[in-house]
Amino acid sequence: MANQLTTHNIDEALTAAGLRRTPQRIALLDYLLRHPNHATVDELWPALNKRRTCASRATVYNALHSLVKAGLVREFKLDASAARYDAFLYPHHHFVCDRCGVVEDLEWFEVPAIRKARSGQRNIRSYEVVVRGECAKCR
Ligand SMILES: [Zn+2]
Ligand SMILES: [Zn+2]
Repeated sequence: MANQLTTHNIDEALTAAGLRRTPQRIALLDYLLRHPNHATVDELWPALNKRRTCASRATVYNALHSLVKAGLVREFKLDASAARYDAFLYPHHHFVCDRCGVVEDLEWFEVPAIRKARSGQRNIRSYEVVVRGECAKCR
């Protein structure tokens, strides 16, 4: 597990991951760390351009992909909708609002029954729980 990224060690993290420090990569990490709302590319792209990191959608996508490959950003898909991006790499679970689609982090807890799933031939690398319902705003 990589050290937790903060807005203060983005440069070091990119260098340590062997990535060039492009304005797009820096802006993406900075945005994801300041807005832990599990943005999609469609949300990230306009946000980045508002901050004058002029970039095409494809550039943003490529920069994101390189960050995911280097293990600095986690990509996940909750359902058939667009992939979401998370710069918080420590283990945590997610809450999804069925009405507005917001994705919130939940504190990590062990699922005791996972031991059963580990038995036998299976090798389980990681797991996370997705809790669904209505968020505080939608209730
Ligand atoms: Zn909601
Ligand atoms: Zn998360």
